[in-house]
Amino acid sequence: MTIAADFSILESQKEFVRRYRQHREEEPRLPMLTSACPGWVRYAERVLGHPITPHLCTAKSPQQIMGSLVKDYFARRQNLSPDKIFHVIVAPCYDKKLEALREDVPTALHSSRGADCVLTSGEIVQIMEQSDLSANDAVVDTLFGDVKEEEVRRHEGASSEGYLAHIFRHAAKELFNEDVGALTYRSLRNKDFQEVALERDGEVLLRFAAAYGFRNIQNVVLKLKRGKFPYHFVEVLACAGGCLSGRGQAQAEDGRADRALLRQMEGIYAAIPVRPPETSAHVQELYQEWLGGADSPRAQAALHTAYQGPGQPASSRDIKW
Ligand code: SF4
Repeated sequence: MTIAADFSILESQKEFVRRYRQHREEEPRLPMLTSACPGWVRYAERVLGHPITPHLCTAKSPQQIMGSLVKDYFARRQNLSPDKIFHVIVAPCYDKKLEALREDVPTALHSSRGADCVLTSGEIVQIMEQSDLSANDAVVDTLFGDVKEEEVRRHEGASSEGYLAHIFRHAAKELFNEDVGALTYRSLRNKDFQEVALERDGEVLLRFAAAYGFRNIQNVVLKLKRGKFPYHFVEVLACAGGCLSGRGQAQAEDGRADRALLRQMEGIYAAIPVRPPETSAHVQELYQEWLGGADSPRAQAALHTAYQGPGQPASSRDIKW
């Protein structure tokens, strides 16, 4: 999934720079709001609609890109018809099941669905407990090249894929020729609403925010609708605390989030080394071999999506979890 997230972040970075350059008072292209969290995207599409949806980044989420990689690139490499592959994704929330049913995903490159089944990590635990399986029974396969488990890399950010940090650095370099090291976040109303700014000679060049959880999302939407919006970019996640606190993650026996487990997951995740998406040789290779170049029409079709507005009929498959 890290490779799919690499694509998603790289495409988001390019889109942000493009939007920044095209932004005009009379034709606003900013702020750009992230689109990797299906809980947030569904809310934006089904409830908010215009004027919020034009601000959603059009880059597909890592899960959607993984679907294209498996059912298009991997299927062709294995000389298999995509419908001969059953693609299962393990996710932190139930919203990812609904995301797998988005109608535009299969039509972009192939007729088969990108993900055939999405299981939450909590469901995996249940299945393993019921069938007496342990993690040691699973052999780790490699899909792209021969990445070993100890070579797994992550993106910056613990509870998200680190869109904010990667896009901030890229934009600072690309737009203002500034090299940004460690990011200094400022907490606003609470720890799930933070901002980071790039300043030069007292002038704010870039102001980004991270807003997690519906309380903070409501606040962002309200400000945006009122036209008093100080941010160029917002990383939006529906769950307070981000994906490690997703409702599909393993829970304590009383059904609440298991805080000790959460701290353990944060520790394990933080121990994985960070690799910026630009430095992945696999991704650069795939841009050429799979998509015919980073700016090709094929890359656009495979890596970008469009959004619906409210009032459009819900897919009848939406409710079949
Ligand atoms: S923030 Fe929550 S709803 Fe959004 S992708 Fe993460 S776990 Fe799912």
